[in-house]
Amino acid sequence: MLWCKRIWRQPMNLFMFSVFHIATASIYWLVSREDATLFNGSWLLFHEVLTTFLLFSVLSNLWALILTDPTPRKIIFTENDHIEKGWDVCNTCEAYRPHRAYHCLTCRVCVLKRDHHCYFAGNCVGYSNARYFYGLLFYTLLSLTYTNLISLEYLIKTTLLNPLQVFVSFFAPIPAAIAGFLHEDFVVLFVSTISLIALGYTCYLVLLHSGSFASGITLTEKNREKESYKERYRNGIFENIREIYGSNWPIAWISPLIPSSLRSNGAHFPHPKTRRANLSSSIRK
Ligand SMILES: [Zn+2]
Ligand SMILES: [Zn+2]
Repeated sequence: MLWCKRIWRQPMNLFMFSVFHIATASIYWLVSREDATLFNGSWLLFHEVLTTFLLFSVLSNLWALILTDPTPRKIIFTENDHIEKGWDVCNTCEAYRPHRAYHCLTCRVCVLKRDHHCYFAGNCVGYSNARYFYGLLFYTLLSLTYTNLISLEYLIKTTLLNPLQVFVSFFAPIPAAIAGFLHEDFVVLFVSTISLIALGYTCYLVLLHSGSFASGITLTEKNREKESYKERYRNGIFENIREIYGSNWPIAWISPLIPSSLRSNGAHFPHPKTRRANLSSSIRK
């Protein structure tokens, strides 16, 4: 299967994919074990439902991102498509490629409206799966914010209470265990710290990708193309949300399981010259 090959062929993909699953499971374990101490009654039920929903949302978006093929493989082009629309040639694939498609060296194929290669999913983020990438980012940020709200106070208090033992347990856990100096809550402290670092990294990713989300200009275009090129495809944020989430955009962001058809197949963006002609004719009207 294609998605298996994508992950297994690249050591980096496999490593990041495994780390993400282990970290997600550990963080879920950390927040769900707080049931008895922090919550009771209806709050306990709210906590359990919320954490399970967040875990499901993070993993379902990740898997939808992995399983959706962002390449032009399944699209049938007419013989004259490339001539009519002025597509250029990818020298590596030795094939014509639509406007806004770029070659990924990791996936070894051209990707439609390519944004970037996501190592956590082992797949490129492009036109057909951008929705799942932004969903993954959104729910990861929400999950980690909630986790840190619960665990941060405990982490700070425990560290201040016995900083030397926490420090030694962290940086030399095996010698500390042999010497009987390992902190009794070492695993909880470790997962809490991972959650805090992961929240910082997720905030960085949100900042990095917020520009593309708001403008419609992909990260690849932002880094490689001139301003005059970017102007051709710049969208407003609401227009871009419709393009990413498709016909059911008001509810499609909630879950990857909500069906929502995209406007096109990702291969037929207007030719820059055509678009410019349309714009000038609409201004004339
Ligand atoms: Zn290519
Ligand atoms: Zn890729």
